[in-house]
Amino acid sequence: MTALADLSPADLAARYAQAHGAYEAFRARGLKLDMTRGKPAPEQLDLASGMLALPGNGDHTTASGEDARNYGGLQGLAEARALFGPALLGAPPEQVVVAENASLAVMHDCIVWAMLKGVPGSERPWSKEAAPAFLCPVPGYDRHFALCEEFGIRMLPVPMTPEGPDMEVVEALVADPAVKGMWCVPKYSNPSGEIYSDETVRRLAAMKAGAPDFRLFWDNAYAVHHLTPEHHAIPDILDVCKQAGNPDRAFVFASTSKITLAGAGLAFFAGSPENVRWYLARAGKRTIGPDKLNQLRHVRFLRDPAGLTAHMERQRELLAPKFSAVTEALERHLTGTDVIWSRPEGGYFVSVDAGVGTAERIVALAKGAGIGLTPAGATFPNGRDPRDAALRLAPSYPSLSEVREAAEGIALCILLAAIESERA
Ligand code: PLP
Repeated sequence: MTALADLSPADLAARYAQAHGAYEAFRARGLKLDMTRGKPAPEQLDLASGMLALPGNGDHTTASGEDARNYGGLQGLAEARALFGPALLGAPPEQVVVAENASLAVMHDCIVWAMLKGVPGSERPWSKEAAPAFLCPVPGYDRHFALCEEFGIRMLPVPMTPEGPDMEVVEALVADPAVKGMWCVPKYSNPSGEIYSDETVRRLAAMKAGAPDFRLFWDNAYAVHHLTPEHHAIPDILDVCKQAGNPDRAFVFASTSKITLAGAGLAFFAGSPENVRWYLARAGKRTIGPDKLNQLRHVRFLRDPAGLTAHMERQRELLAPKFSAVTEALERHLTGTDVIWSRPEGGYFVSVDAGVGTAERIVALAKGAGIGLTPAGATFPNGRDPRDAALRLAPSYPSLSEVREAAEGIALCILLAAIESERA
């Protein structure tokens, strides 16, 4: 197919008429489709239905003989830490804390405590620094950026490469002592799907940071969320940091939100022994102990690493066809244009670089055709994409037939915007 840029004005006008007609025909169907948020679909939640009857009447004694119904057990059950620590956080059980249901809340607490009290190695609380800042690989997770906004932390964007964040940029920026942290979604990154290379992980662990209390906020949200038979692995950040002589550098987060139940899963924190002591000292003021029955329920249901892997395979069977439907529609309509899209091997999103100055237009066209898309710019600090080019597509929640329809409509909107932009 001839590239749009190589078409004559007459051919471009013909392509426009064709694309506009296809868009109008789609619009006339009056559909209502939502591709905005990376939520598990009801069938995915159904996979964990068996968990709702667990641990069961009378089953409340933990491996160490504690009564899971009672107060206490701040760090979480040893059996839950043993099951999830290595698989989700790359951490030994003694360096893992099991919290409540949302890793976002754990990240929130770490930021608040760092701002109010500092972290191990801090000279003063982060809020007492003139203008604390975080490095933010872009595009990234909007709720990470919202936490920075909420607490007045400056955000310094860092471009992504296929190997993870651009390390030349990171190493230059992190020399500034005002840079206290960096958001990282190291595997199947949200939203663009990158897997950090071993070299990127090594450089992040070893780089010279200006702040003695610099922290990687290592959000391993998609550790076991594979979309292909290949289970990609990344180095365990805590080990790599220790080897690099920066044992306290990483705060590691994960949850079972997209493994079992998004609203009733388990969230985790992991770190060096020093960081775990710091976390537990703060957490102990906030709660007398977490919901250990939910921890027991998860352990009884998933049982062991093989059970976790088998469960994620069932998740993959539901999710992978939806991702294929999106990429197939994009390929069908957009091959020959300058539009670029990710082909993620895990995670929850397809990311599209639709061309400078078109993303807002595409979101508006999609809205007009009954398709809800994440607002343009949402994956950038302060909601502003300087190129107005990035789109995040979230195919997990709608049914497969709805995803097929939505993907078709989205591809038509992107094509129409690309032709409009070429003609402008
Ligand atoms: N981190 C990332 C990168 C995510 O994409 C999400 C949800 O989309 C979360 C964290 C939220 O996790 P939780 O449900 O554990 O708060």
